[in-house]
Amino acid sequence: MIRLQSLDRCPLCQCPQIKLFKKGTVVPERIRADDFKITDSHYGTRWTFFSCRQCGFVFANPTPAQGAIAQFYAALADEEYSQEDEGRGRNFSNILRRLRPHAPPGSTLLDVGAASGIFLNLARNAGYRVAGIEPSAALVADAEKFYGLKLFCGTMEHFPAGEKFAVITLLDVLEHVTDPVAFFSVLSGFLAPGGMLVIVTPDIGSLAARILGGRWWHYRVAHINFFNRSSLDWLLEKHGFEITLRKRFAWNFSAYYLLTRLLPYLKGKALQKPLKKLHLKLQLSDSWEIYARKKEK
Ligand SMILES: [Zn+2]
Repeated sequence: MIRLQSLDRCPLCQCPQIKLFKKGTVVPERIRADDFKITDSHYGTRWTFFSCRQCGFVFANPTPAQGAIAQFYAALADEEYSQEDEGRGRNFSNILRRLRPHAPPGSTLLDVGAASGIFLNLARNAGYRVAGIEPSAALVADAEKFYGLKLFCGTMEHFPAGEKFAVITLLDVLEHVTDPVAFFSVLSGFLAPGGMLVIVTPDIGSLAARILGGRWWHYRVAHINFFNRSSLDWLLEKHGFEITLRKRFAWNFSAYYLLTRLLPYLKGKALQKPLKKLHLKLQLSDSWEIYARKKEK
């Protein structure tokens, strides 16, 4: 059984004025490692969420205790994720294109939550000197097998950083982190003064989140935090970052991937090949893509 912790204040800004945001459907006794898959198709399963009146942060309450979900990520295997590398590769190429003016190829780049290394492989091919952190041993093995990348297997707290990086990327990571403030303190220590941080994370303030309500596709067991514009600003400002580019992010997936999220029984059917070739852009634009510079002290 997963260890839970009840919160009486906002874990981000510490304001005690919090209120129920959405009632949950999660049954903690039934949570398994598979629920933390990146490609998890059980949408709509969610924690009970509270929101903060002061900063707008939305957080699971009760929430998994610090370290309580690390074992799930460590045990995670996700074959489907690596198979979606073409669509994800397109998303990631766009990120590299926008990063370039802020941090040119040749810069050091650390990807936290690197999964099977799809992004890092592209970054390395573009000329960046890359390193990655990934808690899942199976995904670390995939990264080596597919791309010859050697990732650090574990969490950021244990990463033996010898150098400070020019770029750190957090691509769909913040919504998984049990304590974003503690996480940012560690992360800031790995980033050189003047270094760039790239964040992609779902936007709970987006039109899609508000219209779809409990059916919003970002509600899933692995997502325990949701940011909006003001809570992200709060987090970045507190840690000495200045936002240089903020845009809405639209994911790019194959038709096969999107259809099997909606209709899981189609998995492995004859349609697979043509649908995997057909790429669609999910124009919900319900994530943030943010480029922020760490101020020089
Ligand atoms: Zn708050």
